[in-house]
Amino acid sequence: MEILYKSTRGGETGVTASQAILKGLAQDGGLFVPDRIPALDVPMETLARMSYQEVAYEVMSRFFTDYTAEELKECIARAYDGKFDTEEIAPLTKAGEIYFLELFHGATIAFKDMALSILPHLLTTAAKKNHVENEIVILTATSGDTGKAAMAGFADVPGTRILVFYPKDGVSPVQEKQMVTQKGENTCVVAIRGNFDDAQTGVKKIFSDKKFAEELAKSGFQFSSANSINIGRLIPQVVYYVYAYAALVRNGEIKNGESVNVTVPTGNFGNILAAFYAKQMGLPIGKLICASNENKVLVDFFRTGIYDRNRPFILTSSPSMDILISSNLERLLYWLAGQSPEKTKACMEGLQKDGRYQIDDAMRERLKDFYGDYADEEETASEIASMYRNTGYVLDTHTAVAASVYEKYRKETGDMTPVILASTASPYKFTRSVLHAIDAEKYDSLGDFEQMDALSEISSTEIPRAIEEIRTAPVRHTAVCDVDQMEQAVKNFLAI
Ligand SMILES: *Cc1c(COP(=O)(O)O)cnc(C)c1O
Repeated sequence: MEILYKSTRGGETGVTASQAILKGLAQDGGLFVPDRIPALDVPMETLARMSYQEVAYEVMSRFFTDYTAEELKECIARAYDGKFDTEEIAPLTKAGEIYFLELFHGATIAFKDMALSILPHLLTTAAKKNHVENEIVILTATSGDTGKAAMAGFADVPGTRILVFYPKDGVSPVQEKQMVTQKGENTCVVAIRGNFDDAQTGVKKIFSDKKFAEELAKSGFQFSSANSINIGRLIPQVVYYVYAYAALVRNGEIKNGESVNVTVPTGNFGNILAAFYAKQMGLPIGKLICASNENKVLVDFFRTGIYDRNRPFILTSSPSMDILISSNLERLLYWLAGQSPEKTKACMEGLQKDGRYQIDDAMRERLKDFYGDYADEEETASEIASMYRNTGYVLDTHTAVAASVYEKYRKETGDMTPVILASTASPYKFTRSVLHAIDAEKYDSLGDFEQMDALSEISSTEIPRAIEEIRTAPVRHTAVCDVDQMEQAVKNFLAI
C-alpha cells in the first residue's frame, strides 16, 4: 500500500516519498512525516539471514513506496559499498553489558555517513522520477562534520554538485584537512572569514533569494539541501536498528521477540527518532534512552514537558551534540499530539517567538517510552577511562555520553533488558579528547598524528582509511572569501 507524506504543520498532504525527498522541508516550514508507519511484515528469521543491504531494502521499500524495487536496490548498492571499511556496514561489538552498534565505518568515520551515503542516490533518482531536468546543487554551511560527510556522499554522483562553506578559524585542524583534501570533480569547499553562524546565515540568504534561484534555473541548476530533517536521511537510519536486532537473534544473544532497549547520544533527535520509528514498525524495542551532554534541553523536556532553549550554549567535548534546537523533535511532537498539525504548529510558534513551549498532559503521557538523562564532561571522560580499563574497548566522546547515561539508567531502574547503544563516531575522530580521558599526562603533549598511532596501539585497531588518507592527500581547495562574497563563490563554482 502506498505511503504518502504530509507536513507536521498541516500545509501539505499527499506528497510522494520522492517528492518529499526532493523538497526537503515542506512549504509551510514543517517536516514531512509518513501518513502511517508501515509494519515490518518480514519474519525475523528471514531478516536474520540477510545482509545489511537486503535489510535496508526491506525497511526502505516499506516507506519509499513510489520507488521501484530496481531503483531502490540500485540506490542501496551504490551507497553501502566499499566506502565502508567492513562488509557488515554496521557491526555490533559487545563490551561490558552493552552491545555497541558501530555506525562509524563509513567515509568520514561518523554516523552521518549512514544516511549521507544514500541520500544523493535517493535524490537523483527522485529528480529523474519527477522529470526534474536541472542539475542539483547542494549548498551547506558546516561547523566541521556534516559538510564533510555530505561531500563524501555526493562526490562524483552524476547530476549533482556540492559546495560547502566552513568558518576559516572555526574548525579543528583535522577537520579542515579533511575538507580541503576532498576529492570529486563536483565538489567545492570555500572557507569564509567569519564564524559558523555567519556561514549558516549566508547560506540561508542564498537559499531564499528568488532572483538568484531564477538565474540558476536558466543555467540548468536548482538548489537542494542535505540537512538532517530530510526524510531521505531519517528512514535509512531505521535500517540499522532492525539489522542490529536481527544480528542479535542470529547470534543467539537474544530470543526472537525478546525486548531490547536502545540508547542514543542525541543532538538533532534524528537518530533516536529512527529507533522510535523502528519500534512503531513492530521491532521489539522497550525503552528509548535519550542521552544528552551538558546542553540538556531534551532531558528537561522529558522531565517537565517544557522545552526551553533559553540557556547558555555550552561547548563540550562532544560537539556534534552541542545543540539547543533539536529540529527532528517536531516529528515526535506531531505524533505525541495525535497527529494534530494545530498543536504542533503552536509549539513551533512558541519556540520561534519565545524560545520555549510546553506540551499538555495527554502529550506527556505518550512520552513514557522515552527516558532522558545527561552526562557532564567529567562523567564522559571517566566513562571513556573506565570502559577502556575494564574491557579494552575505546569509546569516542559522543558514545561515552550515551554509555554514561545508560549506566545511570540501569542503576536507577534496575532494568536489565539487553541494550543496543548507538556508537556514533570512531574514537579516531576525537582522538585528543579520548586520549586525554585515558591518560592526560602521557598523551596530551603528542601531535595529532602521533596521537592516532598511540590510539591504534592501545586499542589494537587499525587507523581508519579516512584518517590515513588525509595524512598524505594533496590539498585541492584553497578558496577563502568574505561573507558578502558567498553568492559570487556559488556563481564561480557553477561558472554562471
Ligand atoms: C550528529 C551526531 C550525533 C547526534 O545525532 P542526532 O541524529 O542529531 O541526534 C551524535 N553523535 C555524532 C558523532 C554525530 O555526528
